Amino acid sequence: MGLPLSSLARIGAYTLKQHIRGGKYPLVLMLEPLFRCNLACPGCGKIDYPDAILNQRLSYDQCMAAIDECGAPAVSIAGGEPLLHREMPQIVQGFLERKKLVILCTNALLLKKKIDDYQPSPFFTWSIHLDGDRQMHDEAVDLEGTYDVAVEAIHLAKAKGFRVQVNCTVFDGADPARLATFFDKMEALGVEITVSPGYAYERAADQDHFLNRERTKQFFRDVFRRGKGGKAWTFTNSPLFLDFLAGNQSYECTPWSMPLRTVFGWQKPCYLLGEGYVDSFAELMEGTDWEQYGVGKYEKCANCMTHCGFEGTAATDAIRHPLKMLSVARKGVRTEGAMAPDIDLSRQRPAEQVYSSHVERELAKIEAADPAAAKRVAGRR
Ligand code: SF4
Repeated sequence: MGLPLSSLARIGAYTLKQHIRGGKYPLVLMLEPLFRCNLACPGCGKIDYPDAILNQRLSYDQCMAAIDECGAPAVSIAGGEPLLHREMPQIVQGFLERKKLVILCTNALLLKKKIDDYQPSPFFTWSIHLDGDRQMHDEAVDLEGTYDVAVEAIHLAKAKGFRVQVNCTVFDGADPARLATFFDKMEALGVEITVSPGYAYERAADQDHFLNRERTKQFFRDVFRRGKGGKAWTFTNSPLFLDFLAGNQSYECTPWSMPLRTVFGWQKPCYLLGEGYVDSFAELMEGTDWEQYGVGKYEKCANCMTHCGFEGTAATDAIRHPLKMLSVARKGVRTEGAMAPDIDLSRQRPAEQVYSSHVERELAKIEAADPAAAKRVAGRR
């Protein structure tokens, strides 16, 4: 089940128009209206904050302002767990009324309870977090039984007429054969797959299981080989991004293509890397020294191959070289032969440690806005 033609046409027209205009433009607004989650996955770098920050929420008005400011044709809502946000049904509705494509990412633990707060629409998709088969997923989220809850939620959402996809993050140690079998199962269920290697978040509890670029490329070749170069499965990822994952494209990232708005503000420079926060999208675009970031430029970027950094590059490449894109889509991803040369890492600048200053700044803001919270915050430092 691909995207409806009307959505594709809308996004295609937007992308082409922006491309012709030149300059930097966003494809998808990444929205994290809260950091609080009902899971604590070891590979997650998003939830390691004091309670005062985990209790913050972006309001409905802030969420609408974010999409109006950046103008992206699609919004992906994550977190934290978005279904913990009381205003989430209104937020989704607000985006749909603005004719945006809405992807609501959830671990599905609350989906059964909340599903009737939402209406099926060709422009609304449930994106269920599922990092592989039962054992792979339950290990990744560190909670037994989560896979079964998610699969039950997929059946329920499909039975009620919703569009459903899974988002699958791959970590080091994953078995290509098992992941391919999992993809077969999703295909049989009629569910699309968004796949990405995990980004090595500096605050993630488990730092030992992120894939480096060499292992990522070989891993995806080993997976796609088992599924006709990936053609056996229906991905939401673009063919050229999949080709990049398999080591056939040398891409630099496009960090502004999926800008992130969180309770801290707009995150500099990208969805994955929190090096600073600003109050407006314009400040993000104009006030970020983009040349400071990317593979080969900055140590924290060295192993990044994630969809939020490189799908934008693949989209631009597809506009410039449509025949190349069509050829990969038709023949599948090449899984044998030489890989494209990778970017030299020898001159990247060293990582800067900025996490504590963001947390301190945010806590100070919370205390100033709500002095009663100061005691609670102080107690947790
Ligand atoms: S490589 Fe690009 S997308 Fe990845 S973390 Fe660095 S700036 Fe962000």
